[in-house]
Amino acid sequence: MDHSYLAANWADVRRRVDAACREAGRDPAGVSILPVSKTFDADVVRAAVVLGLRRFGENKVQEIRDKSSLLADCGIAWVVIGHLQTNKAKDVARLASEVQSLDRLELAEALHRRLQLEGRSLDVLVQVKTSPEESKHGLPPAELPAFLDSLRQYDSLRVRGLMTMATHSDDPAEVRACFRRLRELRDAMQARGHDLPRLSMGMSGDFPLAIAEGATEVRIGSAIFGPRPVGATAAPAAMGPVP
Ligand SMILES: *Cc1c(COP(=O)(O)O)cnc(C)c1O
Repeated sequence: MDHSYLAANWADVRRRVDAACREAGRDPAGVSILPVSKTFDADVVRAAVVLGLRRFGENKVQEIRDKSSLLADCGIAWVVIGHLQTNKAKDVARLASEVQSLDRLELAEALHRRLQLEGRSLDVLVQVKTSPEESKHGLPPAELPAFLDSLRQYDSLRVRGLMTMATHSDDPAEVRACFRRLRELRDAMQARGHDLPRLSMGMSGDFPLAIAEGATEVRIGSAIFGPRPVGATAAPAAMGPVP
């Protein structure tokens, strides 16, 4: 299949991220892009690897299992960005380089135990719930101080920052408020002695707002890989190029 659309999409996204940085008075070097390859086949990911991309975000552990075995030669760092069940800790400890959706102690404990067995460590971001929607996962902001304190006992988890998903709203002010909330929480936690340099926030539809509020990393799926089928699950669909 012809994957030439990927190069154009990638260049366009990088250009728009750089423009959002300039608009916000920020250095583009301070914002990285995490390509989100969920639902896309291994051959699409391989085409992205050819473009020089090496980190990919996935929200299902089963997809990381499938793709990592098909792409074992690519040196890919897999980043877990979706809600993680505790019984998936074993695969994550084996296959992932990073988890951005850490949201409860039970999961931290399970990951730590498995990582110790593997002799590995993992970068983690704590996912915080900054939006009112019931469906969004993440730690309630009020629980963050105690949670970060508790994470200190798990030395295989390197806590590097915070992650959030903004509210689904047509009102940019509401979306931006979620991102601001995460930055303010980060600043408050830094004042308490936690080193949290990374803020993962912003997706294809809202990343300029996230960059304006201090994102150090934006997670971009559809703007790079094209639209996903509605209600897409772990089963990678046969996707065509962006029209
Ligand atoms: C799918 C997903 C993204 C990317 O979404 P797009 O709108 O396709 O850019 C980012 N973050 C998380 C947690 C996701 O599940």
